[in-house]
Amino acid sequence: MTQTAHGVEFSQQFSANPKSAEERAAILANPGFGDHFTDHTAVVDYKVDAEGKGGWHSARVEPYGPISLDPSAAVLHYGQEIFEGLKAYRHADGSVWTFRPERNAARLNQSAHRLALPELPEEYFLGAIRELVQADKDWVPSGDGESLYLRPFMIATEAFLGVRAAREVSFRVIASPAGNYFGGELKPVSIWISREYARAGRGGTGAAKCGGNYAASLIAQQEAEAHGCKQVLFLDHYNDDAVEELGGMNVFFVLKDGSLVTPALTGTILEGVTRSSIIQVAKDMGREVAERKITLAEWRDGVASGEIAEVFACGTAAVITPIGVLKDETEFIGSEDAVAGEVTMAIREQILGIQTGTIEDKHGWLTRLA
Ligand SMILES: *Cc1c(COP(=O)(O)O)cnc(C)c1O
Repeated sequence: MTQTAHGVEFSQQFSANPKSAEERAAILANPGFGDHFTDHTAVVDYKVDAEGKGGWHSARVEPYGPISLDPSAAVLHYGQEIFEGLKAYRHADGSVWTFRPERNAARLNQSAHRLALPELPEEYFLGAIRELVQADKDWVPSGDGESLYLRPFMIATEAFLGVRAAREVSFRVIASPAGNYFGGELKPVSIWISREYARAGRGGTGAAKCGGNYAASLIAQQEAEAHGCKQVLFLDHYNDDAVEELGGMNVFFVLKDGSLVTPALTGTILEGVTRSSIIQVAKDMGREVAERKITLAEWRDGVASGEIAEVFACGTAAVITPIGVLKDETEFIGSEDAVAGEVTMAIREQILGIQTGTIEDKHGWLTRLA
């Protein structure tokens, strides 16, 4: 367990009208996901000066509320935006921890690079989440499977309609209490195959965590929901139908010999922190993990022959979700009566246990926030 000193000063302006203890308790009794926000937000601004030198400034915690943007702000026109997602967990002794935040800080900078946004020094990233969680620590739930979801994001705020990288940018973090995603029960979900739409293409922004990728996935997500599916699977359908990922989750296969397969990172897949952690945890359990191409045909044939025993999706929000069915108008792979697989559940318990402090953190993945 590491406790990183961040060394960046954040000024504090506390909310004049925070939610009352009763209001907060009512929200925490049934937090849902992404519906409610804490009393504060952390902000760091960036500006390129007259000499062309850029710098981060005005690191602060301020009351949560609407932000004021010029109508010509670049983010509103050209989508220069990136984000992250991570969680703060309350451990049994009341302390609050987060999971591999330096990974999110590094990924934010990879995304920043791709979207021509300025890189944010790690100490600002870690400082912002620590300062925010300390200001709003009463908002970190303590129930089973509950957490405080942290959403760092960076937007181009410069008022300018010309097409170039913005010279004024804002990095912000907001926080939202998150309930137990599945209410305790982990029922395999049905996934819809997107044949018509891609979320990413070669040379595009698929490996960056940016709002534009989500905007591109929403029409496919609507199609999935219209067919009774929870999420959509994107394939490399111009080539060989290689499996890429869901709109916001990576995919794993458990083979009948107990090894795991996950699609290799090709540039069109987002490298999840959960994905990387599962690879490590599975290896720690003595399992082999292959990062390689796996096509829709191999998925279909593997499930039919029993070569593929379990399939699951993973990401910070839901951690691990078993996949029961993959389908579209012409395809039906799996079974609607599928139950969560044994290996899927064992890996999920390991990851959740490390995050919530009930399983030893051998890799130093936890950072204390409060
Ligand atoms: C965020 C995200 C994931 C999951 O990443 P985690 O770091 O595990 O939360 C997977 N795919 C996409 C497209 C994402 O945006």
